[in-house]
Amino acid sequence: MKYKKKFPQKIEERERHVKTVCDICEQEIKNIGYEYNQIEINAKIGSMYPEYDTRTEYQMDICKNCFLDKVLPSLQKLGKVNEFSSEGSEFEKMEEIIGVN
Ligand SMILES: [Zn+2]
Repeated sequence: MKYKKKFPQKIEERERHVKTVCDICEQEIKNIGYEYNQIEINAKIGSMYPEYDTRTEYQMDICKNCFLDKVLPSLQKLGKVNEFSSEGSEFEKMEEIIGVN
């Protein structure tokens, strides 16, 4: 006869994305219905060697309102910002380029 005994099982902890908070207004970024906004600013500056990466990374998550009201106008003051539309399954570049102030 084979006897069985229960042993406590080790539970592994895993990190899982649960929410994103805007780094400007500190409000949770929520997409409602089919709305799906992804606004991230990411820069890696420095040197990358075969053995290691010495770059400094700068990263921000931004909500739609802060992007449209604060970030986009600032970027437009620095230079032209190209606007693309994702109509259908392919990104099509719109001929319209948002002007420089
Ligand atoms: Zn915000």
